[in-house]
Amino acid sequence: MSPIFGKRIALIKHVHVADTACPECRASQLQVRVMRDYHHFLSIPLYPTGKKMVTIYCAGCGSGQRVPAIREKYLQTGTPILLYTGVVPFFWMSAYAYLSDKATSNRIQHYANNPQPGDVYKMKAFSNGTPMFFFLRLLKLDEDGKAHFYLAPAIYRHHIRSIDKKDKRNYSDIPNWTYLRTDLPEKVADGIVMDIRRNGL
Ligand SMILES: [Zn+2]
Repeated sequence: MSPIFGKRIALIKHVHVADTACPECRASQLQVRVMRDYHHFLSIPLYPTGKKMVTIYCAGCGSGQRVPAIREKYLQTGTPILLYTGVVPFFWMSAYAYLSDKATSNRIQHYANNPQPGDVYKMKAFSNGTPMFFFLRLLKLDEDGKAHFYLAPAIYRHHIRSIDKKDKRNYSDIPNWTYLRTDLPEKVADGIVMDIRRNGL
């Protein structure tokens, strides 16, 4: 049974060299093979490993040969991009994660600097070292520079994705939580505000 992960050897070049005579029999029938090991996952190449190997074999007398000039020349053979196949999906996944993080943090910063009633804040707090998550809904901004929120009673112990729209307890017109409006960007910077959603988006 072939293992799920493993190493294999790839033949990356196989050429007939006609311009060099065999040191043994003088026939010009040298076969050059360039090989390289690669890691694979379910037979899909992930990443090449180790050094390239060059073997030189004479088809005339059937012997393996050491021809340093040929060896040096073929060690320059480029590794086929195919052997890096495994890098590609992880590269794009990482690029996507990075860009989506950046877009989210820009949006949160913008909303925290320009709060609007109806904004929903996804909050993180620690209780005895245990992370807790909850939602705040911004109800109004007053003349004293205060932002009045409604803290939904549901406290989550696990990471939460979005407010439960069917749960009526998440909606009220009576504020029970206050922050200074100017403190909101700082709460974002501290990581207490994990996300801010506007217009249900
Ligand atoms: Zn030979």
